Amino acid sequence: MTISRRTFIAAGAAALAAPRWSVAETRIGGLTLQTVSDGNLMLPGDFIFAPVPADVAGPVRAAYGLEGDTLTPPCNVTLLRGEGRVILFDAGSGPAFQPSAGSLLDALEAAGVGPEDVTHVVFTHGHPDHLWGCLDDFDEPVFAEAEHLMGQLEFEYWTDPATVDSIGAERQAFAVGAARRLETIGDRMTFFEDGAEVLPGVTALHTPGHTPGHMSFALSSGGDSALILGDAIGNHHISFAYPGATVGSDQDMAQAAATRLRLFDRLVADDMRLVGFHLPEGGIGRAERSGDGYRFVADA
Ligand SMILES: [Zn+2]
Repeated sequence: MTISRRTFIAAGAAALAAPRWSVAETRIGGLTLQTVSDGNLMLPGDFIFAPVPADVAGPVRAAYGLEGDTLTPPCNVTLLRGEGRVILFDAGSGPAFQPSAGSLLDALEAAGVGPEDVTHVVFTHGHPDHLWGCLDDFDEPVFAEAEHLMGQLEFEYWTDPATVDSIGAERQAFAVGAARRLETIGDRMTFFEDGAEVLPGVTALHTPGHTPGHMSFALSSGGDSALILGDAIGNHHISFAYPGATVGSDQDMAQAAATRLRLFDRLVADDMRLVGFHLPEGGIGRAERSGDGYRFVADA
């Protein structure tokens, strides 16, 4: 066995903590849909709750056990396999974002998938926890055999030199990091627009607000369907209970709230399964009406 640096790090990590890549799995017609864990983020509560009035946020935080200063949302990368394709939706954080995230390669290995097996990497948006895992410690593409796909608008936003100055101080590092990575993998990137069938049975749906060019993906196979949300519905608490509430994790908060309301209407009307990148228990489930809002019900 060759001892690579990654093997070494993985062995050290295993000694510290039990593997944390809980995997949810379901079938969409002829396709196998799984989520594999890239770990979790560590966020100050205000990152999400700052714009939410205290009399709304307080009861929601209490109901969901979120009373501490730190939120630890999971990161679920979607793996879709079938018809000769191994598709990843987003690439995780990689080694450079947060120490609690970046475990995607180990989670894939546990699912029997090596990075060289991945045929397509389809991005929802350009944030660090979704994009930065496309490069390794040496700035080489991790999924070297894969075609990479991103919405045209999202790519243009993050590669526009003006973005770093217009995005605001708190997100400037996102812009610098995205531009550097997209410059490296841009020549292997395929671009698509809203409504495009980016791969057989995978249709892009522009869901702006979290970022300008954020894309969700409707899956359809054999009469079965699901919606890969990315971060268009970015948490299971406030954004389900009060889908119209503006939350601090969205760049254009009002646009994101409007997008969310539209998505919930469609999910409930079509009784459609959803996959959320930061939702609990692997993130595969459904939205159920609850009071004036909704609640997330994970697949059993
Ligand atoms: Zn995210």
